[in-house]
Amino acid sequence: MKRISIIGGGISGLSVLHYLKQQLGEAADITLFEREDTAGGTIRSFKKDGCLFEWGPNGFLDNQPATLQLIDELGLTGQLIAASPTASQRYVQIDGRLYPVPMTPAGLIRSDLLSWRDKRALIKGLFKRNVSTDCSIYEYVSRRFSPAIAENLVDPFISGVYAGDIERLHCCAFPKLKGKGFKKSRLHSFKEGMGQIIQAMEERYKNHIKTNSIVTSIRPEAGITILAVPAYAAAKITAALNPTLSETLAQIVYAPVAVAGLLFKQDSFKRKPDGFGYLIPSREHKEILGVLIESNVYDGRADKTQVMLRILLGGMHNPGIISDTLERILAKAVKEIDTTYGLISNPIEGFVKFWPQAIPQYEMNYPSLKYAIAQETAQIPGLYLCANYLDGVSFNDCIKNARSLALAIQAK
Ligand SMILES: Cc1cc2nc3c(=O)[nH]c(=O)nc-3n(C[C@H](O)[C@H](O)[C@H](O)COP(=O)(O)OP(=O)(O)OC[C@H]3O[C@@H](n4cnc5c(N)ncnc54)[C@H](O)[C@@H]3O)c2cc1C
Repeated sequence: MKRISIIGGGISGLSVLHYLKQQLGEAADITLFEREDTAGGTIRSFKKDGCLFEWGPNGFLDNQPATLQLIDELGLTGQLIAASPTASQRYVQIDGRLYPVPMTPAGLIRSDLLSWRDKRALIKGLFKRNVSTDCSIYEYVSRRFSPAIAENLVDPFISGVYAGDIERLHCCAFPKLKGKGFKKSRLHSFKEGMGQIIQAMEERYKNHIKTNSIVTSIRPEAGITILAVPAYAAAKITAALNPTLSETLAQIVYAPVAVAGLLFKQDSFKRKPDGFGYLIPSREHKEILGVLIESNVYDGRADKTQVMLRILLGGMHNPGIISDTLERILAKAVKEIDTTYGLISNPIEGFVKFWPQAIPQYEMNYPSLKYAIAQETAQIPGLYLCANYLDGVSFNDCIKNARSLALAIQAK
């Protein structure tokens, strides 16, 4: 019987467990070891007094068939909720003013987020071919379109995904830039939040998951070992096994992010928070990356008489966030909301979740690091890596990559 150990119970590890159980059934002895007292990693939905605060992701796009199939296999399709179309308008905040992000060609023409010169550059850039993608996102967008498009449109968007620096992130961090364009897709979550999929998997595979189990080293020759932990954790685990692999993994940089949740009464604002929320370009030099109006986006995130906001702070441009206290983070979040919407009364509830190493950065050295990691891993029979620092950081990417890995293991 095949013995398989999965280390790490985030969405990557849990998905590998699901697919391996599905493919191998009782033909393999599979155990997942998770450090914390519950699985989920960065995914957790915290509930208090009728509101829901997401610690990590607040949704995923419905354009990844593997995700939708997994949800179906878990019996959760009926639990899906789509982001409200009335909350689709996103904003970018520059000099304290909220500019609507143009969502249509007509909207682009009317928009004052970009000058006429940049609008022309945007249209011209769509027809440019053979622009090299072996460069930073900033360089690529500046060359294909214009520096202002990189700074005003792409930078805040990348902040929202990676909490990253577009001058340091390699183009491969943003594969859709390479050409195919954007497929129309809609943001989704679950009625009980993103944590619902974690709970469903924990329940289904409870006999295979060992929580409160910190793995410090591995011996893959004893079977198959899948490391589904962040790169810095994988670096520690592989230190004795293969120092070169360990040192390479340790070079992957992570952005720090703090997530603050604020619950308000609906009449707390001089200006009602509308739409999806807003992102802030890094050249504004603010510690706030963006604000999401969760109760506009999804039903059930707060009582009908309340507004639930989620404020993201930190990122690669603000490493100092690491030394902030939770109280100060909360105070900064409240100040931001006051400045933007004008507060009449204080929040009813405040939550903070701090991730010192939140999101891996696919920086300029990423292609060579990835290659070196693959080379070294291939030399260790039975060892596999599966996590968001390889081939995509999104929830969808993690599931797709876990599925491919499980298929590859089964085929051996
Ligand atoms: C604030 C935030 C917001 C995000 N928003 C979105 C979003 O809206 N949409 C989206 O698609 N993506 C989003 N992401 C990205 C996405 O959530 C993550 O990339 C994904 O959840 C990572 O899953 P993972 O399983 O690879 O890693 P993790 O979730 O990091 O899981 C790794 C697990 O390994 C465990 N572990 C670590 N070391 C050990 C050890 N030694 N022994 C045993 N276990 C160990 C950890 O406890 C953890 O449970 C967001 C991420 C963050 C942080």
